Order: sequence, then structure tokens, then C-alpha cells
Amino acid sequence: MQQIGHWIDGAQVNGADRHADVYNPATGEVQAKVALATANDLDRAVEVAKAAQPAWAATNPQRRARVLMKFVDLLNRDMDKLAEALSREHGKTLPDAKGDVTRGLEVVEFCIGAPHHLKGEFTDSAGPGIDMYSMRQPLGVTAGITPFNFPAMIPMWMFAPAIACGNAFILKPSERDPSVPMMLAELMEEAGLPKGVLQVVNGDKVAVDAILDHPDIASVGFVGSTPIAAYIYERAAANGKRAQCFGGAKNHMIIMPDADMDQAADALVGAGYGAAGERCMAISVAVPVGDETADRLIEKLVPRIESLKVGPYTAGDDVDFGPVVTAAAKENILRLIQSGVDAGAELVVDGRDFKMQGYEDGFFVGAHLFDRVTKDMEIYQKEIFGPVLSCVRAQSYEEALGLAMDHEYGNGTAIFTRDGDAARDFAKRVNVGMVGVNVPIPVPLAYHTFGGWKKSMFGDLNQHGPDSFRFYTRTKTVTARWPSGIKEGGEFSIPLME
Ligand code: NAD
Repeated sequence: MQQIGHWIDGAQVNGADRHADVYNPATGEVQAKVALATANDLDRAVEVAKAAQPAWAATNPQRRARVLMKFVDLLNRDMDKLAEALSREHGKTLPDAKGDVTRGLEVVEFCIGAPHHLKGEFTDSAGPGIDMYSMRQPLGVTAGITPFNFPAMIPMWMFAPAIACGNAFILKPSERDPSVPMMLAELMEEAGLPKGVLQVVNGDKVAVDAILDHPDIASVGFVGSTPIAAYIYERAAANGKRAQCFGGAKNHMIIMPDADMDQAADALVGAGYGAAGERCMAISVAVPVGDETADRLIEKLVPRIESLKVGPYTAGDDVDFGPVVTAAAKENILRLIQSGVDAGAELVVDGRDFKMQGYEDGFFVGAHLFDRVTKDMEIYQKEIFGPVLSCVRAQSYEEALGLAMDHEYGNGTAIFTRDGDAARDFAKRVNVGMVGVNVPIPVPLAYHTFGGWKKSMFGDLNQHGPDSFRFYTRTKTVTARWPSGIKEGGEFSIPLME
């Protein structure tokens, strides 16, 4: 049985004797045991990080960027290996696993611009003989806690900017798929990162709480479900840490009567069922405007959904989606589907009997489509995080907009229309952080920022893009007077810069 430890001080170490099973979701078999850290294991990583960070911060930003440049080469060199390890533990298809690595790699590329992003501001002659300037300094030891659904991308979204800014970073990845984060840490060191600057501490709530309470950890980044995001934000803030915590989602796609219905149906199928719906930017609610639009949409969707190919990642590139991550996730999805049926929603595509031949113990869930879902139903209110799309019929554009606005989550949303005025109004008014216009999954690119609103995000600064350089640095502003002033004699009233 493969044993996965922690990555501390440039080596794999076992730590305390606590472990969790890591499954292959396609077969249902336990394929590895991952170490679960105690507070002592975390303490050791923090001590190592504290020792390594000052020299890293003192390395000039261009040299730090060169490590990231080399890391990009290594990611490309090992792309197939990383994707295979990722699919084996997560269950997503190989092309999708490569996308997971690539979307992280793009943020690393953005962070190669660190020398530019870290430049401060300067005001010449803010007063007589006085200059004012600001610098961005690293926080010290930073930490991140990441979810199972993007085990390559989200760790890189955090550690690339943190490290580019001169911090040390401790990653606590999901215990469900820890192999790729460990491989990334090893590759960063192969790229030239000094030991101790990036470490991986595997674990569960015990490790997370140790991070939240450690006095020498300056900031915490979190991505995962909303209840945990709220908990981490509160506890980190109570302990005086900077925190950005990204939570769950229920992304609505509005389909206007004038939309190209084939295009909308294709977009919905990819955005609803890709990665078995286990994406925080998946579309889980379709909102056609008008019954006629709804009927046309459902008619286009059903054959597309029924012909989706479900299978293990080993079955080839034409598989559309794989299993969900655990038996517990599957059980929760099936329970929610039953609640939808019980509440009176119309199950137009029923995947409950789906069985994957030869993989009967795998965590496969067939594709489902509900029509006539209403706001009071649990399947509408909760994030299902599975291959289940709900159609809520709206009678007007305002009603459709109101649905997206009133939902507690505000991660992503989209509108499909040929009317520029409707699209513009929607983008301007909707209270959701990321908006697509005829684009179903509007994940911003590396040089813009990523973040939801409402219960999808706790904190202020977003992930990647310019915000990430703000999150991982503190601003220091210096007011300097040369050469006259002190030598002329002391000043005892507040300076007015006259
Ligand atoms: P999760 O909340 O169960 O776990 C996330 C992390 O928190 C893991 O590292 C886990 O070990 C840790 N954790 C779990 N329970 C904890 C507890 N009680 N106390 C402290 N730490 C705990 O989420 P998940 O199932 O891994 O990921 C899926 C969720 O993540 C979905 O809700 C999805 O929408 C969300 N997500 C959000 C974004 C975003 O950017 N908003 C991106 C990806 C995923």
C-alpha cells in the first residue's frame, strides 16, 4: 500500500501515526494511505518555514521569478504524469486533469511578473525636500487549505503568488487527493526553490485548526465548502490573521427566448456535467425565460444528456465525465435527487439506475435533469456537487435575474442571449462575482481575479491576478526628508507638508 507522508524541509516525512484512506473513485479501492498531521507536525513545518523565509525574501524578485519559470517547464515536462496521478485519485478525465494543471500553470506564469507586480508607489517632493514611497513586503509564513476538486490548480493559485512575493507557504491539501500537491512541492524544489519555502502538511480538521491557531502563521487562504469557509474566516480573523476564504456555489444560467438554443444546450451540458458537476463554477441551475423557451431547451437537452459517456479516466479521451470523489459524496447526491422527486420536481432524465459495467464498486453517478424545480426545494437551495442539472422556469427576465440575485451563493452566473441590452443589464445588476455572456463557465484568466460574492466568499481580495500580490504582501509607506530638516533643528508640531 502506498504511503503518502508530508513534505517538510525538502523531504517526505511520516509524522504522527494518524492516517486516512485515499480511494480510486473509479474502482472504489483504497489505493494509498495519507498521513494526517497533528499540531506537532504542523509546528515543525512552521519552524522550518520561519528559518527559510528571510533568505527567500532577501532573494531579489527576478531571481525568485526564475524559479517559477523553471517550474513551468517542469510542469510541462511532467504533464502526463501529473494528470494520471490526479485522475487516479480524483476521478476526472485525463483531458480535464490536464486542464486542472494548466489553469494553475497559467497563474504561475502570471507570477513570473513579480518584479513588476511588487513595485511600490513613489511621490517626488510630497513636501519641501520630502519624498514618499511605499513598498510591498512579504507577510512571512503563509498557509493555504485546498479542496479536492482542483488538486493542482488551487494549490498553485495560492502558493505561486505567495512564494513570488517572498513568503514561505504551508499547503494543507484535501486528504482525498494528496498526491499531486506533493508532486508539485517536489517539482518546485527541482526548479530551485530552497527547502522549507514550500511545504505540504497533509491532514484533516486537526491540521487545519493547528494552522488557524498558530501564532507564526500570518495569513490563511481557503477554498472549499461554505460552512468550512465561514468557520475558517472567523477563527483566522479572531487570531489576527489575514484570511481569504472561498466557498460553495449554485450557478444560474439564464436562457433568454432569443438565445441560440443549440448553443445554449451544448453549453449547459458541458458546464453542468463536466467533471461530474464537481466544479465550483459548474452550472447547476438553468433558468429559461418563458415556457416556450423552457420546452425548446428541454427538448434539446434530453438527447444530449442521455448520450453522455460516463466512465473511468482509463477508458479514453471520449469519456465525458468520471465518478464522483467518494462513496459519501455519491450517497449525498442520490439523497438530494430523491428529495427533488419527493418535492414534486420532474425528473426528466433519471440516471439513478446507472451502473458502470466492470466498475460496480466505483462511485459513478449517472446524469440527471430536473424540470419544474421551484425555489422552496432542497435541490434548488443546496449545492449538490454532482451531475444534476435543475431547470427553474421563469416567466420574465426580471424573475430570472431575481432568482440569481436572491440565491445565497454568488460565485458565477451566465446569460445566453442575442440581445446586447439584456446582456449588459444583467452583467451590471447581478450580485454575483463572475459573469458570463454566452460563456457558461466564466472563470477569469490568470491576470484577472477570481472570486464570488455573498456566501461564496468571505474576505475581500480575490484569488490570482493583481489582488493576489496585495493579499500576500503588506504595504509599508515611508516619508523621507533629505537632506535638510533635522540638521536645521527639531520640529515639534505635526508636519503639514507646506
Ligand atoms: P471541504 O470544505 O469539505 O474541504 C475543503 C478543505 O477543508 C479540505 O482541505 C478539508 O480537509 C478541510 N476541511 C474539511 N472539513 C473541515 C472541518 N470541519 N474543519 C476544518 N477543515 C476542514 O470541500 P471539498 O469537498 O474538498 O470541496 C468542494 C467544495 O469546495 C464545494 O463546496 C465547492 O463549491 C467548493 N469550491 C469552491 C471554489 C471557489 O473558488 N469558490 C473552488 C473550488 C471548490
